[in-house]
Amino acid sequence: AKQEGRGGFRYFSQGMTQAARERIRLEARLHRAIEQNELRVYYQPVVDIAGGGIVGAEALVRWQHPEEGLIPPARFIPVAESTGLIDAIGEWVLRETCRQGRQWMDAGLPALTLAVNMSPRQFRHRDIGATVAEVTAQTGFPATRLELELTESALMEPDAAELLQRLRATGVRLAIDDFGTGYSSLAYLQRFPLDVLKIDKGFVDAIPHGADRGAIATSIVGMGHSLGFKVLAEGVEKPEQLAFLHSLGCDMYQGYLKSPPLPPAEFERLLSPDR
Ligand code: C2E
Ligand code: CA
Ligand code: CA
Ligand code: CA
Repeated sequence: AKQEGRGGFRYFSQGMTQAARERIRLEARLHRAIEQNELRVYYQPVVDIAGGGIVGAEALVRWQHPEEGLIPPARFIPVAESTGLIDAIGEWVLRETCRQGRQWMDAGLPALTLAVNMSPRQFRHRDIGATVAEVTAQTGFPATRLELELTESALMEPDAAELLQRLRATGVRLAIDDFGTGYSSLAYLQRFPLDVLKIDKGFVDAIPHGADRGAIATSIVGMGHSLGFKVLAEGVEKPEQLAFLHSLGCDMYQGYLKSPPLPPAEFERLLSPDR
C-alpha cells in the first residue's frame, strides 16, 4: 500500500476529507451531548502510599452515548480542545465534581481532595480564577479540597505565573499533570506556586526493570521533594512498582493496582464498604 503513486495520493486526500467530515459531525454531537446531559464524571482513587488510605480522587470525564455506549475522553477531548467546546465541558466537569464532593461531605464520607483536569485553553482565560471561586462558593465545596491539574505546556504561557497566582488565591491546590513529558525542568517549576507533581505513567512503567530501572521516577521524587512539592505516581499497576515508590518516599499513587476510574456509586462503595 506504500507504492500506490497517484492513486495512493488520491486515496489519502479522500481520507482527509472524511476525517474532516467526521470531526464536524462529532463536534455537533458533542454540543448536544452537553445539552442533553450525556457527560459523566468517573473518579479514580488517590492513595496515600505511607498510610495506605484513599485520600482523594481524580475526576475523569466520559461520554455516555445513547447508542455507542461509554466513550473515553481520548476520543472527544482533542476535538473539544480545538473547537473551544472544552470550555463548556471543563466548567461542567468542575461544577459536577464540586457538587459531588459536597454531597459526599454531607453524607459523612472521609474528607477527600478532588482533582480536576484543566486544559491549557481553560487556563488561559483571564477570568478562570473568578469561575473557580464562583463554582466552589455555589456548590459549597471547599476550595482547599480542590486540586487543579495543569499540563507543563500551560506553564509556558507568557503570563503563567500571574494566572497561577490568581488561581492559588482562590484557595485551590495546583498540580502538574504528566510531569516529565514536556520541556519544563524542575528548576523552572520552582518559580511557580505549585503543590503536586504527577509523575507520568511512562516513567512508572519503567519501574523497576525498564530501560532506566526507575531512574527518572527516582530523580523526580527526590528533586520534587527538595523543592517542596508533593509527588504522586500515575498508572501504578504492579505491586513491585508500588514497593519501589514506597522506598523512594513518593507521597501518593493512582493506578489500576488500586482501582480504575469508577462511577460515583462504586467509588462510594470502595470508600465505605460497610454501608
Ligand atoms: P490523564 O489526566 O493523564 O488521566 C490519567 C489516565 O490514565 C486516565 O485515562 C486513567 O483512566 C488512566 N489510568 C489510570 N490508571 C491507569 C493504569 O494503572 N493503567 C493504565 N493503562 N491507565 C491508567 P482516561 O480517563 O481515559 O483519560 C485520558 C485523558 O483524557 C486524561 O489523561 C486527560 O488528559 C484527559 N481528560 C480526562 N478527563 C478530562 C477533563 O475533564 N478535562 C480535560 N481537559 N481533560 C480530561
Ligand atoms: Ca490528569
Ligand atoms: Ca496524567
Ligand atoms: Ca496522560
